[in-house]
Order: sequence, then C-alpha cells, then structure tokens
Amino acid sequence: MSALPDAEPFPPFRAPYAPDDADLVRRLRAELALPPDAARRASERARGYIEGIRAARGSVGGLEDFMQTYSLSTREGLALMSLAEALLRVPDAATQDRLIEDKLGGRDWAEAARETESWIVSATTWALGMSVRIVHPGETAEGIVGRLAQRLGMPTIRTAARQAMRLLGHQFVLGETIEGALRRARSREERGYRHSFDMLGEGARTARDARRYLESYRHALEAIGRSARGDGPRERPGLSVKLSALHPRYTARQRDRVLRELVPDLADLARLAKAHDLNLTVDAEEAERLELSLEVFGALLREPSLVGWDGLGLAVQAYQKRAPAVVSWLDDSARAAGRRLMVRLVKGAYWDTEVKRAQERGLAGFPVFTRKPVTDLAYLVCASRLLAAGDRLYPQFATHNALTAATVIELAGSADFEFQRLHGMGDDLFRQVHDRDGHPCRIYAPVGGYRELLAYLVRRLLENGANSSFVNVVSDPGVPIGGLVTHPHEALADGSVRHARIARPDAIFPGRRNSAGIEFGDRQEVARLQAGMRAVPDPVLDAAPLVSGRPTGGVRRPLRAPADGATLVGHVEEAGPGAAAG
Ligand code: FAD
Repeated sequence: MSALPDAEPFPPFRAPYAPDDADLVRRLRAELALPPDAARRASERARGYIEGIRAARGSVGGLEDFMQTYSLSTREGLALMSLAEALLRVPDAATQDRLIEDKLGGRDWAEAARETESWIVSATTWALGMSVRIVHPGETAEGIVGRLAQRLGMPTIRTAARQAMRLLGHQFVLGETIEGALRRARSREERGYRHSFDMLGEGARTARDARRYLESYRHALEAIGRSARGDGPRERPGLSVKLSALHPRYTARQRDRVLRELVPDLADLARLAKAHDLNLTVDAEEAERLELSLEVFGALLREPSLVGWDGLGLAVQAYQKRAPAVVSWLDDSARAAGRRLMVRLVKGAYWDTEVKRAQERGLAGFPVFTRKPVTDLAYLVCASRLLAAGDRLYPQFATHNALTAATVIELAGSADFEFQRLHGMGDDLFRQVHDRDGHPCRIYAPVGGYRELLAYLVRRLLENGANSSFVNVVSDPGVPIGGLVTHPHEALADGSVRHARIARPDAIFPGRRNSAGIEFGDRQEVARLQAGMRAVPDPVLDAAPLVSGRPTGGVRRPLRAPADGATLVGHVEEAGPGAAAG
C-alpha cells in the first residue's frame, strides 16, 4: 500500500457544507439545459410509464402462496405483514412470543380496532405499495389481525407471523447468503439485468464487527467472481460497500486512524474486485462523512496496484448541496489519475436524519435541500455533468421515479449509461424501461439474514411511506398523473426554494435562538475553529487551597490539557495535612 494521502482529498475538494439555498438553486436552474420539446417528450414518456405501472398493479407478488397456506384474505395477509414488521425489531424468539401474546392475547378486538393509535406501524403495507388498493379507510392492521386470531387461534398466528417475516425479508433481500442470492439472480441475468450485491450491515461498532463485514465482503467478491459472466466491469456484476461497516470509528474526528486502518482494507477489496474484473461501488452515507469518503476514495485512486481497472465507483447523493461539486471533483480526479470511474447518482436515503441532525447541532444551514423539486433539479444537473464527462465517468442513474428516468433518457441521447434499481422496488417501471425499451439496468441486491435487515428496511419503509415519494403515490389512482410528470423547474416556478415549515437550525426553539454548533465533518469550519483557538492565548491558571481566605503553601504541580496531554493549562497547589492543621 502506498503512503498515507495528504491532508486534502485528491485533488482538493472545496465546497461549502450548508450554503444558502436561493443562490444555489438559481445556479442549478441556469445550468440545466432541457429544451422545451425535450421536456415535453420526457413528460409524455413518463406518463406512459406511469400508466403501465398502474395497469400492472394486479398481483401482490410472493404474498399469494402465503395467503393460500393460511386461507387469508389479501387484507389479512397485509395485516400480518405489519405484525411481522414489528416483530423484526425484536431480537430473540422468546421476546417475539411475548410481543405476540401481549398484542394479540385476550384483547377486545372491536375496541382495539376503534383505537386511533395503532400499535402496529402499518408501514409494511406501504412498503408493498398496495395500501391504497387493499386496506379500507378506517381499518387498522391490529383490528384485522385480532379477528384473525379469533378465527385461527394464536399458535397459527405465531407461525404465520414468522413466515410473514421471512416473506418481508424476501421482498427486499435477494438471499440470506451470497450463494443463494447469486442463484436467485440468475433468471434476471438471463433477462439482461446486471447486479450489484450489497452485504447487509453498516455502522460497525467494534473492530470485530468491522472484521466480520470485511470477511463477508471478501467472501462475496470471491463468490460473485466465480459465477460472473459478461465482459468487463460494466457488464459484469459487482459489490456495493459501506465504509461505516468497514471501520468502527468512521467519523471525521478519527480521520488519521480511518486513513491508516480503513484504506488498506478497502484497497484489498478493490484488488480482489479487479482480479475478477468486477465493479466495486462505495455507497453514500451521511453528509458529515462525505469529505472523509472522498479522501478514502482519493487514496484508492492513487493506489498503483489498481491502475488499469475501470470498476471503481462512488455513489453521489443529489439532495446534498455539494453534489454537483462532488461530480466535478470525480471528473477532475479521474482525469488526474488517468482512470475511468463509475458514478451512481441517487437522490439520497437519509433526508430526515440530515434535517434533524443539522437542527440538533445548531448548524448555520442544512447540508441537504429541503424541497423535493430542488433535489430533483440537482439530480438532473448532476446527470448532465456525468453525461458530459462520459469519457472518464460511467453514469449509473439510480431512481424509481418515472419522470426522472424519462428525463435522463432525453438528456442522454445516445450516450452510454445504465439505470439502477433496488431489489423489490421499481419492477413495474423497469419492465418497461429495461425489458421493453432496452435501457441497461443494474439491480442493487441486498444479501443477509434478518438480524442485519432492520436498518436497511427502515430506510426502504421511510422511502415507500413518505408523501413526497414517487413510489408511494404512483399506484394511487386518486393522484392525477399530471402532478407526477411536472418537471422540477416548473414546480419551482413559484420561487420557493426552501421548505417553509422546516425550521432553520437556529430557529427550532420558540422565543430563543438555538446555540450555534460545529460540524466536524466540514473541513473549512474546523479550520476556522482551529484558527480562532490559536488566536486566543491559552490562559495559564493557578489554583491553590484557601484557608480562612488565605492561600496556604503546598506542592505546586503543572496541569496539562487532557485533549493532548501537552498543553499547559495552569498549576495547582494541593492542600496538605499542614493546611488542615493550620
Ligand atoms: P423520488 O420519490 O423521486 O425521490 C425521493 C427522494 O427525494 C428522497 O429519498 C429524498 O432523497 C428526496 N426528497 C424527498 N423529500 C425531500 C425534500 N423535502 N427536500 C429535498 N429532498 C427531498 N441512497 C443513499 O443515500 N446512498 C446510497 O448509496 C444509495 N444507493 C442506492 C442504490 C440504488 C440502486 C438505488 C435505486 C437507490 C439507492 N439509494 C441510496 C436510495 C436512494 O437515495 C433512494 O432510493 C432515492 O432517493 C429515491 O429516489 P427516487 O428518484 O427513486 O424517488
């Protein structure tokens, strides 16, 4: 492994962390070149896709066998899935039993059904995108399951709920093991789909966790490599990795340690991917980790043993205000390294977290946009930049939104790119985009057991359940198609670029300002803080015991700052027995 990278990413990345929205949005609008006739064609194409999605919504996937086994109605099946979703949050079988007993045993179900607050988050029904069609207004999952418990008895409900858990995992996870996932992927590969496998797990807490994830990534690369077909990393499958899984302290404050310990592990994985001619993409996580991720990524670009391999990729989140700058940085880096890179463009899965964290920390602004059409606009601007850099960057457009996909098709013309979708989502859209219209598509395929599923599942449920989410509204016939095919620049014509009801970080408390905080993931802000600290001379304090208002003599010793063990903060004189006697 080559020496540690310099203090800056390669080349330097400079973009303000949370700038004001208005100026940024003005520049994004000016940059997007989408002629009116191209916009019209994209809307028409998207309308066709949406009609296709609505027409296809007849079957409920793997639920059918499950429901036949237990003679359930569709509603009952979905209600049980909701129970299963609650059970997934419980770590062991004994506690799961207790939860079922507690929630289902001996209740007055008619009364339960009347309660407005349901104990089961019926998110699962949204997850499957079918709530509107199947669950009647005013009905709760618990009411349905309660009636079912009376009909079938508790033991059957328990077994069925467990099976529903497996089914739920099956919906979003391709297999419990990489070998199983590869088998299940085969039929879709035969239909022309590519895959990027994702070993579930993130946020390693201990070095042992990180080792385990590293081993599972290694094992996956070997297994994928053995069965891979196709020519070169673009056509062949690959692996997506989360840096937070590979290091237990993946934070900006641990930068030196992360670069020292994580970069060699990641380089090993990349060499393995290279050896099998696969692709390896680094997933995008929280905004505070972006600069660190770019440093780690930059270190790989300088790794001599990876020269000649075009399979390295990075995910970029369009909801981050720094996204266009990241795309340009990737272009500059690819040029400087003489390499071709893959870039997966996503909108971003941690929006709620980013908004809350910025408020909690009292930052100067949000690192993400707060209006959805602005994210959509930023996505298209990033897409245009990626397409313009086609010699160096391979654009991979990850979206389940029909209008975004249709607009990308217009922007791309004859350029080389691929779409990406998540396993278990976007099937009906890509049956048209890929199967019928022939645009290449890669499926992001999570692999793992139920224990690791939760964090991933929660993000998918949030995405599927959010009002602003395309997949949530597309199957609701009550939502007019016109609203779904309105281009972001049209939606922003009223000039509102910030969400009016999301309080700025300094204004979250009524009647007082929030205290200002520091974002350690923002290099420029940390540099300002350090310069400010240097400008203030360190006070050197003296402390001594007072007896009757007068200092007493004692042994004087220096005190050093605990942060570095070196800076002198002052001197202390400890009271001795003599002082007490006096
Ligand atoms: P849409 O419904 O058009 O967009 C929804 C998105 O808009 C939200 O997720 C959010 O990003 C944004 N949004 C919603 N409300 C607002 C608001 N008020 N203000 C501003 N923006 C808003 N995500 C990651 O973070 N990292 C990854 O590495 C990653 N990898 C992925 C890989 C693949 C193959 C796919 C398909 C997705 C991946 N995702 C990742 C998840 C991805 O971010 C979401 O699936 C995506 O945001 C949904 O966008 P859409 O175009 O499908 O749907």
